[in-house]
Amino acid sequence: MGDLHVHSLLVTGANRGIGLELVRQFLGMPSPPAWVFAACRDPKGQRAQELQNLASKHPNLVIIPLEVTDPASIKAAAARVGEHLQGSGLNLLINNAGTAKASSLDDETLENMTQIYTTNTVGPLLLGQAFLPLLKKAAQGTPGSALNCSKAAIINMSSSAGSIEEVFLWNYGQVVSYRCSKAALNMLTKCQSLRYRDCGVLCAALHPGWVQTDMGGSGRTFLFPPLRVDESVRGMLKVLSSLSEKDTGTFLDWEGKVVPW
Ligand code: NDP
Repeated sequence: MGDLHVHSLLVTGANRGIGLELVRQFLGMPSPPAWVFAACRDPKGQRAQELQNLASKHPNLVIIPLEVTDPASIKAAAARVGEHLQGSGLNLLINNAGTAKASSLDDETLENMTQIYTTNTVGPLLLGQAFLPLLKKAAQGTPGSALNCSKAAIINMSSSAGSIEEVFLWNYGQVVSYRCSKAALNMLTKCQSLRYRDCGVLCAALHPGWVQTDMGGSGRTFLFPPLRVDESVRGMLKVLSSLSEKDTGTFLDWEGKVVPW
């Protein structure tokens, strides 16, 4: 396993769940990043209370407003991050924000399909485009030609629910709009890996496991996710630290195992 020495990163959907824990664990590293940009929809509101508490203790944490379905908001976020970085690049973009709606094949609608796809797939596409100049700058400013997450990377938070070969938990929830959006996110990851390789940017899709969050469920139903959020994130950080050239364009889980497309 390599080391993860990230100078700067941005996490979307950072106010709760997996995103918030990613921020916590990056801040808690022995040599934490100089800049942790935590993006969320409402930085000053109640929903960002935990981030605000963290920011009061960690001057390297900057909360950035971001609605991932709004192209203007994405551009504004990239501009803000660029201003903070003052000429240096962004090493790591984690497209974590995501949404799901309980639905079966029979009751999916145009609105559902469009809304979930816009958040889970189009958002990461536009974020990749907007942050590419900063990611390129980070790649250029890091010695060595090999791809890795300490240099420059886009990590897309996918789900095994989007795996076509292993349709995960079908009998418990069809969530067709969600599955389709994550299958498409996987294809986007592949396309990004092909296009951005020459820019020095590694791109990978990660499945965090089935995790105790608002989305994963936290024991209010009979379905109880096996993984605590801190375990999932610890696993994913280990995976990030181990990614290299050969891993760009792959789909891995929180333990580093390949997930079938
Ligand atoms: P949560 O529902 O707990 O959190 C989702 C986060 O995404 C929130 O911060 C939410 O912000 C943000 N978000 C949603 N829509 C938008 C938007 N339009 N613009 C900006 N932010 C938005 O989910 P998890 O933490 O469980 O999931 C994180 C990622 O991991 C998702 O992509 C999910 O698909 C994936 N995943 C999760 C699994 C699990 O078991 N938990 C399993 C497999 C994949 P707000 O508070 O404003 O709504």
